[in-house]
Amino acid sequence: MGKCIFCKIANGEQKADIIFENDKIVVFKDINPKAPVHLLIVPRKHIRSINNLKKEDNSLIGEMIFLAKDLAKKQKIDKEGYRLMFCVEKGGGQSVFHLHLHLYG
Ligand code: AMP
Ligand code: ZN
Repeated sequence: MGKCIFCKIANGEQKADIIFENDKIVVFKDINPKAPVHLLIVPRKHIRSINNLKKEDNSLIGEMIFLAKDLAKKQKIDKEGYRLMFCVEKGGGQSVFHLHLHLYG
């Protein structure tokens, strides 16, 4: 398989403005921000989209959403409000085919 850009960011082959990482998830700033705060919450595991989720990914998705909540608080956009978005396949606006959760605030 050709190298996926988000896999490369997750394994350090490609630079990004990483603001959080743990053993399962990497968070970095979107290179083309569409809001004052625009973060991408990305699992290290390569999953193409929400369509490709398996039962075993259940807790990973939960962690991504909890992390979004924590980061929104850290960025001080929790009170004002923010938006979380998964784009699914081309018709859903997905352009990078490695699962990611957008956090806009
Ligand atoms: P989507 O359209 O939901 O697939 O979102 C992909 C997002 O990734 C877009 O908002 C892009 O601006 C962003 N993006 C693409 N390449 C990079 C990169 N190298 N570093 C950071 N963000 C990127
Ligand atoms: Zn990938």
